[in-house]
Amino acid sequence: MIEQARRIIAQAGRVVSFSGAGLSAESGIPTFRDAQTGGLWEKHDPMRLASPQGFAADPQLVSEWYAHRRRAIAEAQPNGAHLALSRRSNMIHVTQNVDDLLHRAGTEHVIQLHGTIAHDRCNGDCGFREAVDMTDPPALRSCPQCGDQLRPAVVWFGEALPSDAWEEAERVCSECEVLLVIGTSAAVYPAAGLIGLAKSAGAKIIIVNTQSSDASSLADVELLGKASEVVPALLDDPSTIS
Ligand SMILES: [Zn+2]
Repeated sequence: MIEQARRIIAQAGRVVSFSGAGLSAESGIPTFRDAQTGGLWEKHDPMRLASPQGFAADPQLVSEWYAHRRRAIAEAQPNGAHLALSRRSNMIHVTQNVDDLLHRAGTEHVIQLHGTIAHDRCNGDCGFREAVDMTDPPALRSCPQCGDQLRPAVVWFGEALPSDAWEEAERVCSECEVLLVIGTSAAVYPAAGLIGLAKSAGAKIIIVNTQSSDASSLADVELLGKASEVVPALLDDPSTIS
């Protein structure tokens, strides 16, 4: 199976990756739920921590929750899958992850459908945004342009995906020759619809995941295993693997 997938990728010009939580799980990045488990966060409803309504009700609490998550992400390192993706040039990466591990691995073209936890943006509509220090996350503070509050530049429950990222993701998925789907169960729409979009536009679909999912029926090749092991085996030139 892996040889078949390697041949498909070798023959393709435009390869796009589409990733979810399974890509970063082996780096030790906890899922939203896992990050809540244990300690003082467990008692809070996720809607209070990650929704526009929750932020309006208690911005200080939301700010502290994101400081907690940012520190956990800052301590994580890119794994073998992020690094293998970064070694393949001209590849575009569409991800549902809000972490910065693809960037830190050295990839250049990342489309983050759910935004990035590494930036804050204005909660008003002035358009201000800036990178934050993930190792020493900032406290709740005001927008320097308009005085509204700053918030994490992620997509919260009940919010639409950023239209520019979504339109670019639709375009690259409909133009690619291979869509390499990594670590996502493809359960969350509209993002999951990108696999069907690529398939109907003629792309081959290669899925890497620890278990079969709703997307399996769309796969030309499905490779079950850890992303950190399967993705390097798929993308790296065997002669360069020591
Ligand atoms: Zn502002």
